Amino acid sequence: MCAKDLQTDNDQDTERFYSDLVLRHSSDAVIISDAARRTLWVNPAFTAQTGYTTSDLAGKEPGSVLQGPETDADTARQIDQACQQKREIRVDIRNYTRSGQPFWVDLKVTPVHDGQGRHTHFISTMRDITERKILEEQNEEMRHGEALRQSERQLLALTSEWLYSAKSFEELLMVIQRAMHTLIPEADGALYVYDASRSMLELATSWGCNPDFAHHILPDDCWALRRGRAYAYGQKPIQFACDHVSKSGTPYFCLPIIAHGETIGLMHIMFDGFEENGLMRHMRDEVLRNRWDISLICGEQISLAVANVRLRQELHERSLRDPLTGLWNRRWFMDHAQRETIMANRDGRSLALISVDVDHFKQFNDRFGHDAGDLVLTEVARVMTRQCTDKLHACRMGGEEFTLLCLDMNADEAVAQAELLREAIRTAQISAQGQALPQITISAGLSVLGRDGADLQSLMLVADKALYQAKADGRDRVIPQVKATSPVPEREAK
Ligand code: GH3
Ligand code: MG
Ligand code: MG
Repeated sequence: MCAKDLQTDNDQDTERFYSDLVLRHSSDAVIISDAARRTLWVNPAFTAQTGYTTSDLAGKEPGSVLQGPETDADTARQIDQACQQKREIRVDIRNYTRSGQPFWVDLKVTPVHDGQGRHTHFISTMRDITERKILEEQNEEMRHGEALRQSERQLLALTSEWLYSAKSFEELLMVIQRAMHTLIPEADGALYVYDASRSMLELATSWGCNPDFAHHILPDDCWALRRGRAYAYGQKPIQFACDHVSKSGTPYFCLPIIAHGETIGLMHIMFDGFEENGLMRHMRDEVLRNRWDISLICGEQISLAVANVRLRQELHERSLRDPLTGLWNRRWFMDHAQRETIMANRDGRSLALISVDVDHFKQFNDRFGHDAGDLVLTEVARVMTRQCTDKLHACRMGGEEFTLLCLDMNADEAVAQAELLREAIRTAQISAQGQALPQITISAGLSVLGRDGADLQSLMLVADKALYQAKADGRDRVIPQVKATSPVPEREAK
C-alpha cells in the first residue's frame, strides 16, 4: 500500500480508512460485537492470537468461546456485570485458543455509543500478556518458597533453642516430639534409644497422626545404624528397606543420633499415607528432598541436645554423689530428706533416720593405712547399697559416717534394717592385696518422725544422740530409741 492511496478528499472516508488500517494491522486483538455482545467482527491479530476467525465467533458472545476451565469465574462475572451496566472494564483474564492452549490477555471492553447516545456496540481489545504472567507466577512462587524457607529457618532456630533448654531427657523427648511434628507435619516419627546392654534400641517417644512403631528394634535391622549414617528410603533406583520397617514401599528416613562420638539412638521418620494424599510424583520427591534436609539438621541438633542433657545430668549427678563410695552425699541428703520429711508430715506417712558410724576407724586407718580404710568405706557402702530400695536411701555424710533415710517405715521396720546392716557388715570379708583384714563393726542410732521430732534437724540430732549411746554402750549395736537423759552427741560436741 502506498501513501498516495491514503489520500482522499473526504475526511470521513479518510478517517474510516485509517481506522480500518489500524484495526487490521494492530498487534492487539480486537473484537467488535453488537449491543447484545454478539460478535460481529474480529481483526487478523485476534485470529493470529486465538486461531478463531470472524465466522467462528459470529453471533456468539466472545467469553463463551474464549473462556475455559481455569478462567477465573470472578473475573468473568465482573466483565458480564460491566457490560450489562455499559461501563468500560479492563482486566487480566485467562483465555483459551482454538486448540485449547491457555494464554493470558489484558482485556479492555469498551461500550460504544452513536451520535444520539444510544449504546450500539462493544469493542474488546486483548493484548497477550502470557509471558508477563509466567514471570509474575515465577516471582510469586519464588516469594512463596522464600517465605516458606524463612519460616522453616525460624522454626528450626526456635526448635534448637528449646532443645538446648531441656534440663532432663524427659523434657528433651517432649520438645523433640512437638518440634518434629511441627517441622514435618506429613510424617509420623519415633525416637529410639539404645538399652543399657546396647543389644537393642527401645522406643523412647513417637509423634504424628497415627504413629505405629515397633517397641524394640535390633541394631542390625537398620541400614542407617549398620552404615553409621543417615539413610533415606523411597527415592533411589537401588534401595533396600530396613527390617524394622513393616510397611513396604513407604518412603522413610533413618537418622542415627550420635552423642560424643557414640551412637546412642535412632530417629525414624515415616511418610505414611503420602500416596493417598494425592501428591503428584514430582511434588512428592520435592517435599521429600526438603524434608530430608530438615531431618538432617534436626538429627544433628537432637544429637547435640542429647549430649548436652547427658553432660548436664552427669554433672548434676556427680555433684550429688560421693566419689569414693558412689553413695548419695550430704548435699543430696539435706535436700532430699528435707523434702521427704515435709511430705511425710503432710501425708501422715512414717519416716525414720538411721545414723551409722564405723567403729574404731581411726585405729584401723593407723594400723592398715588410709587405702585399706578406703576399702572398708567402699565395702560398707556396697553392703548398704545391696539393702537399698526406693524406700531406703544410703548417704555418706562425711568421713566414716553414714545416714540411711527410711521412707514409709515405722520404728520396728527401720530397726530391722539397721540390724540387718550391722550383721552384714560384721560378717563381711574384706581383704587388701590378698591379705584378709580384721572384722569391721558399726554402731547405729535411730530417730523416727513424730516420736523424736517433726523436722529434719530434730531427727538428725536425735539419731546422732542414739548413735552416741551405741558407742558409749560398747559399739557394734543399734540403739532404736534415745534415752531421755542422753547427753549431747559426740558429733554435735566436736
Ligand atoms: P569411733 O568408734 O568412736 O567412731 O572411733 P573412730 O576412730 O571411728 O572415730 P573418729 O571420728 O575419731 O575417727 C574417724 C576417722 O576416720 C578419722 C579419719 O582419719 C578417718 N577418715 C575420715 N574420712 C576418711 C576417708 O575418706 N578415708 C579414710 N581411710 N579414713 C577416713
Ligand atoms: Mg566418726
Ligand atoms: Mg567412727
